[in-house]
Amino acid sequence: MRMKTKVLHEGYKPGNGEPRVLPIYQSTTYTYDSTEAIGELFDLTKAGHMYSRISNPTVQAVEEKIAALEGGVGALCTSSGQAATMISLMTLLKAGDHFISASTIYGGTVNLFAVTLKRFGIDCTFVDPTKPLETLSQYIKPNTKAVFGETIANPAMTILDIEKFATFAHQHHIPLIIDNTFATPILCRPIGFGADIVIHSTTKYMDGHAVQVGGVIVDSGTFDWTNGNFPEFTEPDNSYHGVIYTKDFKEAAYITKARVQLMRDIGAYPAAHTAFLLNLGLETLAVRMEKHCENALKVAEFLYASTEVQTVFYPGLKTDPNHKWMKKYTPAGASGVISFDISGGKDRAIKFMDGLELASNVVHVADIRTCVLHPASETHRQLNDEQLKEAGITPGLIRLSVGLEDVEDIIDDLKQAFEKSK
Ligand SMILES: *Cc1c(COP(=O)(O)O)cnc(C)c1O
Repeated sequence: MRMKTKVLHEGYKPGNGEPRVLPIYQSTTYTYDSTEAIGELFDLTKAGHMYSRISNPTVQAVEEKIAALEGGVGALCTSSGQAATMISLMTLLKAGDHFISASTIYGGTVNLFAVTLKRFGIDCTFVDPTKPLETLSQYIKPNTKAVFGETIANPAMTILDIEKFATFAHQHHIPLIIDNTFATPILCRPIGFGADIVIHSTTKYMDGHAVQVGGVIVDSGTFDWTNGNFPEFTEPDNSYHGVIYTKDFKEAAYITKARVQLMRDIGAYPAAHTAFLLNLGLETLAVRMEKHCENALKVAEFLYASTEVQTVFYPGLKTDPNHKWMKKYTPAGASGVISFDISGGKDRAIKFMDGLELASNVVHVADIRTCVLHPASETHRQLNDEQLKEAGITPGLIRLSVGLEDVEDIIDDLKQAFEKSK
């Protein structure tokens, strides 16, 4: 199956006489004929649903769909993108460990890495992802256990050289985790470029309609956890009568550990109804992404030509410094998100945003409806000046998420707001 077919047909394959549409299994628990059968589930010797903090049939269908879209061996849905990021790392790291992240990442992730994980004894070094391999390698320590980056950085709109980052991580026998939220598997499949784990905030394009917050972790199944760096994968887990993840779950070791250990203990699993809505979003993901990219390119070209704008950051533009990476990593388009620096700085940016009539000013992105956000005073306001600079954010930067409206209407709205804000 190709992508437009996969989004519709992967995950849920009804049998004879079964519902055509994925049912919502609104149940916390599952019945079994014997105590022994349930005991086997607790021992992980048999697969099956036990309790909806760990798995649920509706959510499972969506997990299988997303795993198929990304080309992984398994996936775990989470109640938010933040939970996906957190659990993807907590499956690997413990107090005293260190990891490396590209500095061009989502502001909420910066807080998680720089402040919250630090409180739990996990250290993160942020690096300029454009630096050559030799420079990046200087940040590796004996306790470095993972490398992290975003395919298309929110909101800097730079594209990560995923292959370089994969080489970097693998030279040091540690996995690469890629946040693929903006690209979606329609525009980029990081596993094909060497990523070991892919995460998403499904809140964005995957849902696409701004109806529910969610996340997902996908396991490529290709990382060698037996290389000596990850004893928790190769030594018995006492919370499961000595299960050994690499031995008992083979290539699904990571995603199984994430679910049965971390999700069991943290409990950030989505509800069946949420997964049902996410599935509706996924069904149209491929056609929506095509249109988002088409509209965004036209809007980016308009902004590029406008005297009201200092700089446009959209890798789809031939003049964009990231265009060569776009051609390699997201050749079908650079998503619907554009960042641009308005002439006149922060005050003008705020006036301009308040003057928009069609586009809404919301703390969101990747919606079917056009929306805008001012990172410096909204999503990224907790970051200091240095962190803002590292994340590629200037005071006048506006993040415009181009929706599926008639593109002429979107451009007309921008024109009138530019006039009003003069
Ligand atoms: C929004 C976002 C997140 C966080 O996801 P939530 O669903 O809001 O928790 C993580 N990464 C990126 C790139 C995002 O855009």
